[in-house]
Amino acid sequence: MSDILQSSIAYLKGVGPARAKVLEQEVGIKVCQDLLHFFPHRYIDKTRYYKIAELQQSSAEVQIVGKITGIRKIGQHRASRLVATFVDDTGKMELVWFKGIKWLSESLQLHTPYVIYGKPKYFKGFQIAHPEMELLEAHKSSMQHLMQPVYPSTEKLQAKNITHKTISKMVQTLFLTQGLQLLETLSEEIIEHLSLIPKGDALLNLHFPKSQELLAKSTYRMKFEELFYIQLQLVRKNVINKQKIKGYAFEQVGEHFTTFYNEHIPFELTGAQKRVIKEIRTDVKNPVQMNRLLQGDVGSGKTMVALMTMLLAIDNGYQATLMAPTAILAKQHYEGISQLLEGMPIRVSLLMGSTKAKARREIHADLENGQIHILIGTHALLEDKVKFNNLGLAIIDEQHRFGVAQRAKLWRKNELPPHILVMTATPIPRTLAMSVYGDLDVSVIDELPPGRKPVKTVHKFDSQRLNVFHSIRQEIEKGRQVYIVYPLIQESEAMDYKDLMDGYESISRDFPKPKYQISIVHGQMKPEDKDYEMERFVNGETQIMVATTVIEVGVNVPNASVMIIESAERFGLSQLHQLRGRVGRGAEQSFCILMSGVKLSEDSKTRLDTMVKTNDGFEIAEVDLRLRGPGDIMGTQQSGVLNLKIADIVKDNQILQVARAWAQRILKEDPDLQLPKHRMINYAYQQLVQHKNIWNYIS
Ligand code: ADP
Ligand code: MG
Repeated sequence: MSDILQSSIAYLKGVGPARAKVLEQEVGIKVCQDLLHFFPHRYIDKTRYYKIAELQQSSAEVQIVGKITGIRKIGQHRASRLVATFVDDTGKMELVWFKGIKWLSESLQLHTPYVIYGKPKYFKGFQIAHPEMELLEAHKSSMQHLMQPVYPSTEKLQAKNITHKTISKMVQTLFLTQGLQLLETLSEEIIEHLSLIPKGDALLNLHFPKSQELLAKSTYRMKFEELFYIQLQLVRKNVINKQKIKGYAFEQVGEHFTTFYNEHIPFELTGAQKRVIKEIRTDVKNPVQMNRLLQGDVGSGKTMVALMTMLLAIDNGYQATLMAPTAILAKQHYEGISQLLEGMPIRVSLLMGSTKAKARREIHADLENGQIHILIGTHALLEDKVKFNNLGLAIIDEQHRFGVAQRAKLWRKNELPPHILVMTATPIPRTLAMSVYGDLDVSVIDELPPGRKPVKTVHKFDSQRLNVFHSIRQEIEKGRQVYIVYPLIQESEAMDYKDLMDGYESISRDFPKPKYQISIVHGQMKPEDKDYEMERFVNGETQIMVATTVIEVGVNVPNASVMIIESAERFGLSQLHQLRGRVGRGAEQSFCILMSGVKLSEDSKTRLDTMVKTNDGFEIAEVDLRLRGPGDIMGTQQSGVLNLKIADIVKDNQILQVARAWAQRILKEDPDLQLPKHRMINYAYQQLVQHKNIWNYIS
């Protein structure tokens, strides 16, 4: 790479140390290379000329050729303005100025063609205030670039008078600098296959597009390059992981697995469950650590897959552990799994924060001497005191509740790292999973057990509450149970608790004791009280559960058939979907009722409509990603996909796929990038890894 690109922008003509400092602080431009990769976020398109008759009330900036046929001054003193009548061969409009009136009225030329540019407003006809103006004659010869770049700016930059024109000027100076070399960074093979334009041309046209078409080609080329190098790193990391991280080989499928499969499963596994179990088996057979993400919608039967994987571990002489994010969930797993394994010589234990000291000591001891085969629990599993005899498999349920650090802690529980399976019902759109978890293998259960009736979802306004209560009463008559969930948003906690308690009181009035029993669960209760209330609902002693989102994760009460979500407009999509997943677990028809006020933002409307329209978690996740961007989705923060300079992980999905395919193809052929034809790629790759610049997420 030429030295110029690595030198400080302070040395560029007309920049100087003061501006360089602000540019670095505000937008991270330090050396010329950074400047070159600081791309305009939009362009003023001056390739197109509008006719006055074409103008619309919603038009953005337009460029028009026409003549001034008359000028008049209106108003007095401060309120005065200058108005010109401007015509072309299709119609007439007004140009208005509030400043520089004297000078303008002397210099504007009547009946002479002008090119004007500005944003039209409609007020008894179209007007443009303070248009940019140029005589057509001058315009024809002056115009160098038809599309003008607009760069991202900040308040500070503006205060220091560094406008997008300043930046454009700097880039221009850079391009004109003697000795500037813009090396190609992709291989000829790729460039030819995808008909990409050369790097130098792409950079030039991004800053100074000669046409829309060249701009589009340049944008594609640079987006591809950016995504390609991310994928190259992810795919390579994956390959290296596979080679280097030794793990335990579960070579045989033994008696426990087989007995369980043939005699204990109370239903037929779904095709998707079978497929995923096969994928896992293929993985753990090898003496290489498995790192697998298992995605499956709520109720898709992930627990069964988890259990069968644990049996594989036990068949090969290893212990297994399953970590859940809440005590309620850990307990449900413990009870469910113990029941399924009844009659088999497998010892399952439960360890939680609330486990009493004596029981805890026993568990610690039996874990170390290998008598416990499966340990289920909460965060308590991570304590240093918890030592396994021979841990071979760690499963983490509802992974989004745990941080990466916690995952890493499980690693240190044996000599070699155990196989890791993380399960989540919060689907990450496939596309995003690919770029964020390129280093993780992903399995998907995309099929629900048969006989499930999809939950019917409706959206009701607060004014229809009486009707809603009527339906609840009918469901309870049939012996069903009902959840009523209130939002709890940190910022408005006090108000939210008030809403919850008000709601609880009004429900208690409408559903009086002793005929109706109501549980209430929220975050300000003691854990024991929460568990107690939860337990009553699980056991069917109460018919209604009033709660905040604490019930969001994993809880399984098949008899509950109605989920009412209050102020549903305040919930995020994935949360709504999770909540809905609490019902529809039995054979009966279930309902989800989204309650909201009448005033809804566009986004809230989209969220509620999406919920009503579909039950498909992946579809919901895609909409969510569109609405919110990838920022809130787990893992994206660390992954660097948010620091992209030009590509957009959501919108440029197609390019991402192409980039990934190429990364895979190249690494398959040449894992260490040693072939002569990959010299450029290897060079660029090394630069990226060393400089850790925009792609510095290698962990
Ligand atoms: P999730 O994927 O949300 O964790 P669970 O593992 O809790 O789902 O399974 C939900 C329910 O479906 C459980 O009651 C489970 O016993 C049942 N189930 C799982 N697999 C099947 C299957 N293949 N056929 C019928 N029911 C199943
Ligand atoms: Mg589950």
